[in-house]
Amino acid sequence: MNREVIVIGGGASGMAAAISAAEQGAQVTLLEKKEQTGKKILVSGNGRCNFSSTALSARRYHCSDEAFLDRFLTRFPAERVLARFRDLGLYAAERNGGYYPSSFQASSVNTVLQRALKTLDVSVRSRVNVLSVEKEEDGFIVRSESEAFHAGKVILACGSPAGVSDPKPFTAYDILKRFGLTAAPCFPALARLIGNNGYESLWDGVRIPGIVSFYGRTYEGEIQLTKDGISGIPVFQLAHDVNQALLDGKRPCVMISFLKEPSREELAAYLKEAKAATLTNALSFRDYISALLPKKLAMALFSGSSYEQLPLSALDETHTEEILQRIYAFSYPVQKSAPMKEAQVSAGGLLLSAVNDDFEVRSVPGLFVTGELLDVDGETGGFNLHFAFASGFTAGEKAGRP
Ligand SMILES: Cc1cc2nc3c(=O)[nH]c(=O)nc-3n(C[C@H](O)[C@H](O)[C@H](O)COP(=O)(O)OP(=O)(O)OC[C@H]3O[C@@H](n4cnc5c(N)ncnc54)[C@H](O)[C@@H]3O)c2cc1C
Repeated sequence: MNREVIVIGGGASGMAAAISAAEQGAQVTLLEKKEQTGKKILVSGNGRCNFSSTALSARRYHCSDEAFLDRFLTRFPAERVLARFRDLGLYAAERNGGYYPSSFQASSVNTVLQRALKTLDVSVRSRVNVLSVEKEEDGFIVRSESEAFHAGKVILACGSPAGVSDPKPFTAYDILKRFGLTAAPCFPALARLIGNNGYESLWDGVRIPGIVSFYGRTYEGEIQLTKDGISGIPVFQLAHDVNQALLDGKRPCVMISFLKEPSREELAAYLKEAKAATLTNALSFRDYISALLPKKLAMALFSGSSYEQLPLSALDETHTEEILQRIYAFSYPVQKSAPMKEAQVSAGGLLLSAVNDDFEVRSVPGLFVTGELLDVDGETGGFNLHFAFASGFTAGEKAGRP
């Protein structure tokens, strides 16, 4: 039996897979097309690497098979990823529900993974861009631009084109296709959203704690208003659904509430009070609103409105309703997503139905697919790295066994 395992891709998932396969006694080669492994780990979590979460649940992901993911997360919860890292000499610290290395430095995660690869004698080959994988009698032949490698088992852990500026094309989907495997379409899943609706040049630079929602999904947090659209963590969380709607030819609008506090009801009452109070009833609406919202946002939402110059006492019910609507239920039409190279994670990839619980491709025994190359993308907060590490450790353990 050929005990050689080739792991293609030296990211989170590939390094985890290589470590687990080598622990089982397999002879492991890790092929990475960049000059260095773990580049995305280094930039993750703003350089702090939020690698798992206290709130793991299949519902925090988009994927084609929620039952599969449920089963997998039960089998491989956060505690197990933390324990695997503890074995490597890395200890976790929890902050706001996310697990980070205790150093709060992403480089610590890379360091312990690379150290373990070395200790386990994994042959790490960088600058090897794999172009094809073919089945042969007792395993696989893996070809790069200039070399061929043979192995009994292959783990494809190539990630996705998200967050990568690479002149070389992303070949993993073609590799899957040549095995007759279907990948769901790839598009940005955690990314800012772009519009061109006339507000953008006015509100550029504003950051405000608010609420965004789209088709039943609602997220709170700091909304960043930019010169060409909307950004920030809560906006990222909607990107999968919004971009799917764009792909389906729809014209998606994100609903924005620019204020969490005061609530809509509270502000309606305050406005009524202000219309009657001696100190405020003669104020123009423009002056009143620019102390309630960031000035640039107030300009973007209300400049040119018919009531901008009116004194508060002259505002009628219709004006009040429109003002509340603009602040608490602002409908922002999205025209496109930020480009893939700016996204944190992509949607799409090999359908979960194509692999078994060890991430081995059902129709191609000996071939495993892990991490972001699968049709699984999570919210921000450690969900994506958790899945990348956990699927890598799982596939590696199975592939490395005799
Ligand atoms: C800016 C940013 C911040 C992020 N922050 C977080 C965070 O805090 N928490 C979180 O959970 N997730 C975060 N993510 C997402 C997370 O980093 C990814 O989901 C995760 O790294 C996916 O791991 P992976 O191993 O599947 O893929 P990757 O990490 O992308 O690794 C794939 C590797 O395969 C290599 N490769 C690709 N094709 C080939 C080929 N043909 N031949 C050889 N090698 C190949 C690539 O060069 C790459 O090194 C962030 C992503 C970005 C871009």
